[in-house]
Amino acid sequence: MGTQLISNIGQLITNSDEELGIITDAAIVIDGQKVLWVGSNKQAPAADSTIDANGGVVTPGFVDSHTHAVFAGDRSKDYVARMSGQKYATGGIKTTVAATRAATENDLISHTRELLRKCHSHGTTTVEIKSGYGLNVDAELKILKVAKTFTDETTFLGAHVIPAEYENDRAGYIELVKSEMLDAVVPYSKWIDVFCDNGAFSVDEAREILQSGIAKGLMGRIHGNQLGDTGGAELAIELNLASVDHATHVSNETIAALAESNVVTTFLPGAEFFTKSLYPKVNLYFELGAKVALATDCNPGSSYLTSMPIAMSLAIREMGFTPAQALYAATAGGAAALRRSDIGHLQPGARADLVIWQAPTFEHIAYRLGDIDKKILTTGKF
Ligand SMILES: [Zn+2]
Repeated sequence: MGTQLISNIGQLITNSDEELGIITDAAIVIDGQKVLWVGSNKQAPAADSTIDANGGVVTPGFVDSHTHAVFAGDRSKDYVARMSGQKYATGGIKTTVAATRAATENDLISHTRELLRKCHSHGTTTVEIKSGYGLNVDAELKILKVAKTFTDETTFLGAHVIPAEYENDRAGYIELVKSEMLDAVVPYSKWIDVFCDNGAFSVDEAREILQSGIAKGLMGRIHGNQLGDTGGAELAIELNLASVDHATHVSNETIAALAESNVVTTFLPGAEFFTKSLYPKVNLYFELGAKVALATDCNPGSSYLTSMPIAMSLAIREMGFTPAQALYAATAGGAAALRRSDIGHLQPGARADLVIWQAPTFEHIAYRLGDIDKKILTTGKF
């Protein structure tokens, strides 16, 4: 496709530092795959074609590092119950499991494509997708095959909850996850994840499952501390996992330990929003220099959210992020949570995944809930 110059950019967000690395009156040159050059509009080199950004803002595409985008069935009744005051628990996952097991691979592909089209329309250019609505060998494999057609960031979450048929045999299910199920899904998975929380898996169970996946070459991440301060974050540090996700209930001591570690804390404000739960506050994370990310947690039961700008708006409104911190967490933070250095920023060499927003400053993204005319350029699979 040749080189492409995007000229006349009011604010170019390069993320070269945590202050967003903003270049004003900027231009960027890409070749369809990579960023070749960034700098002042006046000094922009010639290119094969030009897009006039018309004074707008250019940001990296969002990196949504936590979704459960492959599923079937309807959980709107759970939503209605939550809104009338019923507390969130893990039981509703079983409804989605039954529907997802019954769905064909083709049904799941077309539903996932629609959902990811929505994610993309809000500016997401990289998405992680987890399994966890199969909970048997065939269905987990089916979900990960579908996920893999859309992204390389696929995560095996066989240890989401104990399925009904193993209710009286936890050890039997954990053994299945660690052996036959893991062996089947490894070719389609990059990551292994465990829901380590009240009503899901204990720290000892999670450790055992994560270590068996890591031994087979997968990288580890964890759902931790969503429903209680139950040790998932500490386990993430112990095993040097890429990310602990949710982190709704974390002690100050553990926040300090996270800040000293390589573990990214991924906040999912959509989950607190849809389950009417209290939001975690993030000031201490930022004070101590901890690495944080923002993601949608897109799933039918506890966060039917496809928009990263809305996740940012919630994080700013409810959790204490500044607009700049929210944008950095939704781009560079997500990349760090996936241990990727080629996405989440727009310095030369980065992938040419970017969004041109017709707004005067980046603050407009959250301020207007992302409802801004935009053009999205992506090298990804969707
Ligand atoms: Zn999740």
